[in-house]
Amino acid sequence: MALARSLGAVVSGVSGHLVQVEVDHSQGLPTVGLVGLPDASVIESKHRAKTAIVNSGLSWPKGRVTISLSPAELRKHGAGLDLAIAMGILGSTGQIDRELIANTVFLAELGLDGSLRSVPGALPCVIAAAQSGIKSVVLPLGNIAQCQIVPAACSVACSDLNHVIAYLRGEREPLPPGTARDPDFTDFFDLSDVMGQEEARWALEVAAVGRHNLSMIGSPGVGKTLLAQRISGILPPLTEDETLQATAIHAVASPLTCNNPITRPPFEAPHHSATMAALVGSVHGHRVTPGALTRAHHGVLFLDEAPEFSRNALEALRQPLESGQIALSRSSWTGLLPAKFQLILAANPCPCGNALTDSPKACGCASVALRKYTMQVSGPLRDRIDINILIPTFRGAGIGESSAVVRERVTAARELSAQRFRDFPWSTNSEVPPASLRVNFHPEAGGAELLNSYVGHSGGLRGSHRALRVAWSLADLAGHQRPTREDVALAIHLRNSEMAMASS
Ligand SMILES: [Zn+2]
Repeated sequence: MALARSLGAVVSGVSGHLVQVEVDHSQGLPTVGLVGLPDASVIESKHRAKTAIVNSGLSWPKGRVTISLSPAELRKHGAGLDLAIAMGILGSTGQIDRELIANTVFLAELGLDGSLRSVPGALPCVIAAAQSGIKSVVLPLGNIAQCQIVPAACSVACSDLNHVIAYLRGEREPLPPGTARDPDFTDFFDLSDVMGQEEARWALEVAAVGRHNLSMIGSPGVGKTLLAQRISGILPPLTEDETLQATAIHAVASPLTCNNPITRPPFEAPHHSATMAALVGSVHGHRVTPGALTRAHHGVLFLDEAPEFSRNALEALRQPLESGQIALSRSSWTGLLPAKFQLILAANPCPCGNALTDSPKACGCASVALRKYTMQVSGPLRDRIDINILIPTFRGAGIGESSAVVRERVTAARELSAQRFRDFPWSTNSEVPPASLRVNFHPEAGGAELLNSYVGHSGGLRGSHRALRVAWSLADLAGHQRPTREDVALAIHLRNSEMAMASS
C-alpha cells in the first residue's frame, strides 16, 4: 500500500483547525491531484513540495499522486500545508516511517531548496493541535518563540526537510529556540507623567479594578488621551489562557510584527476616520483580518474624539459590549470573532472644545450643532458606560503615583474579586449579571438604601446595577467586605459626575 497520512493545520477566522493530509500514489500518467477545497496558494503547494523534495536529494514518486485534505468541507488557504504535504509524500514512498509522521503536526511553507519558512497564524494552529491531544508540532524557527507559550504541545523548530526527517528518526536535535522577550512594564507610558488630575486618575484606577467602561469629557489638552494611554500600565498582566487567546489573534492580525507572546492587556486606539472593516474585521478570499475590536480582546479599546466616529461605527460596539463577540458575515466567510474589551471613550464638551473653558475663549457652537454632537454617542451605548467623568480644565501641578504603585493596588483588588467569584463564570465586577447582583452581591444596608433611592430618582434599574458594580470595585480597593454606604455614594457620583458637573 502506498497510502500515508500526515497532519497539518490551517486558520479560519482567528482559530486553528487540524487538517489530515492523505497521500496515495499509483501507476499511471505522472499527474498530481489535490482535493479537499484548496485555494490557489494550497494548489501551488504541490509544485513547491515536489521541487523541495527533489532538491533535498529525496525522490518524488513516479506515476499518479493523489493528495486529499480533510475535513473536505473546510476551505484551506495559505502555504502552511506545504510541509505536511511533503511529509505525506515521503511517507507514502517509504522514505520515512509512516508511524513517525502520524502523530505530529507539520506547519511550514517550503522553499524550493527544502528550507522551512515561517507562516502567518501558526499559534492558533498549535493551540488547535494541543486541544486535539497532539503533543508534537514541527515549525520553522521564525514561528517557534511565539508557539512555545502553548504548554500542552511540544513545539520544535527545524531548518529544512532533511533536518525534519533526521529529527523524527532521533538522529538530530531540533534548532535551539529563540527566547521570547519578557513583558517589560517600562514599555508603557507611566501614570506619573500626568500632572494633577487627581479625580480622573482615581476614576481610571477604579475602572481598571472592575474592567468598567469609562467615558471622559474635557476640553482639548486637559490630558484625556494621556490618561487613557496609561491604563495598560496599571492593569494586571493577562492570565495564561488570556495570553494564548490574545497572542493568537495578533498572530493572525499582524503576522509580520507579532513575534512575542502578548502578556499585557492590548491597547487599541483606532482613529475616528477608521472604516467599519478596520473596526470589526474584513475578509479577503477566505482569509479573515481581525479589526481593532477583536485586537482589543482582553484589553482596552480607546476611542478618542468619540463623537467624531460615524454612528455606524459606534453602534457596532453594542454587540461586542453585550456578548464579547462580533458576528462577521461575508460571502466567503461567516463566523464569530472574539471581542471582549474594556471601552474608554474621550470627547470634547462641544464641537469647538471651549464649552468648559472660561472666557475669553467662549464657546461659539450653535445649540443644534451641540445637540447633534452630544447625541452622536447614543443612549443605548451610553448606558453601557459604568463611569462618566468630566475632567476640569485646571489640572493641578502635583506629581502623582507611578503606574507600578497603582498597579499593585489594582492587582490586590482584582485578587479579592477573583476570590469572591471563584464559583462563578466571571472574574471581574463589571461582568456580574443583574440577577446574581441582586441575590449574591448586595451592599450593606446603608448602601442598599441609597441605591434604592437612586433607582427612584434618576438612575433607573440598569443604572443602579452599574453603580453597584462600581461600588464593589471601590469596596475591593478599600478592603471592605461589602460596599458601604460611602462606596455606593461614590459609585453614584462616578456614574453621574459628568452630567452633574456639566449642568453646574
Ligand atoms: Zn463649543
